[in-house]
Amino acid sequence: MELLKQRILRDGKCPSEGVLKVDNFINHQLDAQLLMMIGVEFARRFAYSRATKILTIEASGIAPAVMTGYCMGIPVIFAKKTRPCTMDNVLQSQVHSFTKDINYNIVVNSEYIKPNDRILCIDDFLAYGSAAESLIDIVTQSGATLVGMGFVIEKSFQEGGKKLRDKGIHVEALARIEELTNEHIKFCD
Ligand code: 5GP
Repeated sequence: MELLKQRILRDGKCPSEGVLKVDNFINHQLDAQLLMMIGVEFARRFAYSRATKILTIEASGIAPAVMTGYCMGIPVIFAKKTRPCTMDNVLQSQVHSFTKDINYNIVVNSEYIKPNDRILCIDDFLAYGSAAESLIDIVTQSGATLVGMGFVIEKSFQEGGKKLRDKGIHVEALARIEELTNEHIKFCD
């Protein structure tokens, strides 16, 4: 997505090698118009999928997921990182964060994903794929069908994208980054 790539080149920062900071339009301050265009683009790429729900992880996945859900006219569920004491029947999985070097659990109320659902997963970044694998785990536990996974930014020099595509999953990334240093950002195409 050309507009997104231009914005990454203009406003993206690389505070340490392999890490992209996009706090002024995706991860902290939100550019709602760009995010809406991201939603339109995901909706176009997954139009064929007959998705019934979108699944993401709080917090950074919510904005692109909501825009996509709005464009596709389907509900959006976000996996929570803390389990509310009021939540009884949960689907749960563990994520390893390579950027923070910690493990955490994500939970989803099983009421919201049923075996007849067709789930499209949306997230902000695809890096090593741990967050994505946990979303797949939640979908598998629910008995629903995974129809595809969309990422705003994929760092293709980390192995998440390859792992997911090797499983036969339809993966879409709106900007795929091949090289990332504080001097330059190079896209795959
Ligand atoms: P993975 O599980 O694929 O290794 O990492 C995905 C998650 O880690 C994303 O949901 C995102 O929140 C975070 N993440 C990974 N790499 C980056 C990065 O370079 N920049 C930012 N802002 N977040 C990242």
